[in-house]
Amino acid sequence: MTELVISGLRAAAGGREILRGIDLTVRGGEVHAVMGPNGSGKSTLSHVLMGRPGYEVLGGSITLDGVDLLALPAWKRAAAGLFLAMQYPTEVPGVAVQTLLEEALVATGKASGDVRRLMVEEAELIGFDERFLVRPLNVDLSGGEKKRNETLQLAVLQPKVAILDEIDSGLDVDALRAVSRRVEGLTNERGLGVLAITHYSRLLTELHADRIHVLVAGRIVASGGPEVVDELERSGYAAYRELDDTPAAVAAPTGALADPFADPFGDPLA
Ligand code: ADP
Ligand code: MG
Repeated sequence: MTELVISGLRAAAGGREILRGIDLTVRGGEVHAVMGPNGSGKSTLSHVLMGRPGYEVLGGSITLDGVDLLALPAWKRAAAGLFLAMQYPTEVPGVAVQTLLEEALVATGKASGDVRRLMVEEAELIGFDERFLVRPLNVDLSGGEKKRNETLQLAVLQPKVAILDEIDSGLDVDALRAVSRRVEGLTNERGLGVLAITHYSRLLTELHADRIHVLVAGRIVASGGPEVVDELERSGYAAYRELDDTPAAVAAPTGALADPFADPFGDPLA
């Protein structure tokens, strides 16, 4: 049984701690949603999981079926069964998606002979124009087409766990429904585990999450069922932001007696 286990994960970028202790387990067949306001660390989480260079892991662990992912470069994490649909998919002039998928399958020791047939089938399911299959990867594609391209790669590569970073952005209602249904289909057909990152609840009206986590300032401050989305719809992130305890979010003391040189947050070294 597939199991992605994130435990006590802390990571920094640009010299600042952005993920401040994430615990999350995604099992095969489950859909977990991570929701949070802009800048809460959602994309950072996806990048650190996939091993994008430029992030410093300060603590914690990430394992996929017992394999220590933090010890591996990105391509080996992919070979171990992790897939990332990027928030901003990269354009790769000169490489068609078919070539990319064939090479990726060969690199993981899987047969690549069926790629063309699979791609055409999958493109049909999500309304992705077949002529994009032979064109350079993502070049001149609209935002929505790029997201469908990511979904097609996910379906053909058959990873164990997929991280979807704002797969909903740029998709119109029909495309969102098609993509969501396909992803949900993969969880049922192949036991795909999904970590769906979004800041809109509309994704979750199509893709049914087993569990919803609210990420604020690099921490999961709430987890629950669909009622969490209802609550977010009603009151936004305001209630959750109060749980943000980073120095910038904590009001500085005011008044004549306040010592402007005192450290209002306490000295961690004291
Ligand atoms: P989200 O995806 O939730 O909107 P991000 O993970 O993209 O948020 O960013 C979280 C915070 O980390 C933001 O304040 C962002 O500016 C900062 N950040 C992300 N990546 C870097 C980086 N490479 N260098 C410096 N700061 C970064
Ligand atoms: Mg983001």
